[in-house]
Amino acid sequence: MRLRSLFVLLFLCSFSAVFAQQHVERPKLVVGIVVDQMRWDYLYRYYDRYGDKGFKRLMNEGLNCENTHIDYLPSFTAPGHACIYSGSVPALNGIVANDWIDVATGRKWYCCEDTTVKSIGGGKAGWMSPNNLLASTITDELRLATNFQSKTIGIAIKDRGAILPAGHSANAAFWFDKSNGHFISSSYYLDQLPDWLVQFNNRNITDSLLLLDWNTLYPIETYVQSTADDNVYEDKLKGEERPIFPHKTSNDANAKNKEMICYTPQGNTLTRMMAEAAIRGEQLGKGTSTDFLALSFSSPDYIGHVFGPNAIETEDNYLRLDQEIALFLDFLDRQVGKGNYLVVLTADHGGAHNPTFLEDHGIPGNSISIKEAGRQLNEFLQQEYGNSKMVLSLMNYQVFLNEQLIKEQGLDRSEIRKKIMTWLSAMPGVAFVLDMEAPGSRSVPQPIAQMATNGYNSKRCGSMQIIMEPGWFSGYGSAGTTHGGWNPYDTHIPLIWYGWNIPKGITYRKINMTDIAATLAALLHIQMPNACIGEPIKECLE
Ligand code: ZN
Ligand code: ZN
Repeated sequence: MRLRSLFVLLFLCSFSAVFAQQHVERPKLVVGIVVDQMRWDYLYRYYDRYGDKGFKRLMNEGLNCENTHIDYLPSFTAPGHACIYSGSVPALNGIVANDWIDVATGRKWYCCEDTTVKSIGGGKAGWMSPNNLLASTITDELRLATNFQSKTIGIAIKDRGAILPAGHSANAAFWFDKSNGHFISSSYYLDQLPDWLVQFNNRNITDSLLLLDWNTLYPIETYVQSTADDNVYEDKLKGEERPIFPHKTSNDANAKNKEMICYTPQGNTLTRMMAEAAIRGEQLGKGTSTDFLALSFSSPDYIGHVFGPNAIETEDNYLRLDQEIALFLDFLDRQVGKGNYLVVLTADHGGAHNPTFLEDHGIPGNSISIKEAGRQLNEFLQQEYGNSKMVLSLMNYQVFLNEQLIKEQGLDRSEIRKKIMTWLSAMPGVAFVLDMEAPGSRSVPQPIAQMATNGYNSKRCGSMQIIMEPGWFSGYGSAGTTHGGWNPYDTHIPLIWYGWNIPKGITYRKINMTDIAATLAALLHIQMPNACIGEPIKECLE
């Protein structure tokens, strides 16, 4: 290159650098993708069988944060979605679990329930809002930063997977109503469904997808990453005699049972199609302000609970989800334009192996019934105090005391708590019990103490926290699995950034779930959510 043209080039470069600083650079559209119950290791467990345009496109062209963890307890769906979008933990954002007991009144709450709103487009599944979420979300902050010119929308089969990410000031959240097979909303957001959604619902896609049945994508003998199809570790779908392929969702009984779609990969197809309809219908990414679609694929969690991490069903679900993601990215390329949109893919939690499966392979683990433990605990307290209702519940691995009863009868609360902790500590599978009213009173490994503290909201949590031994959990009998513990299988999550201004790369630095919203705030040049305790991931911003 001649010297003169080099000067011209330098001049142009410095000109564009100055020009770039004259307005705030933001993507046209941000798409948050949560895969419900996606363990981090699924990225690699099935890697060889993924296509080039789905997970692999994100992993190889984006920034892969390999060492990302949930930094609170318990690892359930509602706290996961709330944390990703608020950058905060249950102690502050109030979403302590899917369900909890209000400590002051003893009343049980569902995370998104709201009886003051009306269902829009469906039945009582629509009585939902983000009212129990105490903090703002990154989607709220985007609305605030652009004087509400940005459009923000949440979509998921599960109400909590759509509502909590969309935040308080969302244009809308849409979720699935099993009573009619449609996507619905609540009067918290809208008075009626938008025309594009009425048209989408009128296509009755749920029914057509159920007619397809669930067969394996590839010949069943090629699923070498999974246990043979017919085994004792898997639970059965409704109406089935064995947990095996094909899953005949076209059966008359099932076709009427629209909820069945949640339990098959067709649920992901429906969700992806709904996302595309919303982007088109609302013209997301076409305005002058950055829009935000918060999308959550719920079916992997339904499937994971029934079949567990070592099932052909789970493997097949991820191979098919990979195809849905490829289709969706392709759609975004065409609709919004490659480079104009930012994708962040993560999970609300992982999932444990089935305990019988572990036992059969010599690895410790087992399950207990926390409900039964609660019954026995009350029996013990009856013998001690003559009252059988001292403990309201052991839900969320926490002891919810019957505070009103203890107060009314003038009982020695601290003595009762001591007796409960001693009794629970002796239970098989219990590693230790933490007194959340006296943190530090028992020495426990620092990460667990921190996670318990981050998860403890005194108004919505039981004051004693049960920590199970590794591989142990409550519920699901002998078949299927669940999540909720502090352990890596439940809390090590995928986190991949892709698209607009995201450098290609990989990092093994420890990153917390609370860092996701902080990073989005930094990328978008907007304020962090109002209870955010995370920090921007610097590798994303380089
Ligand atoms: Zn979940
Ligand atoms: Zn789950």
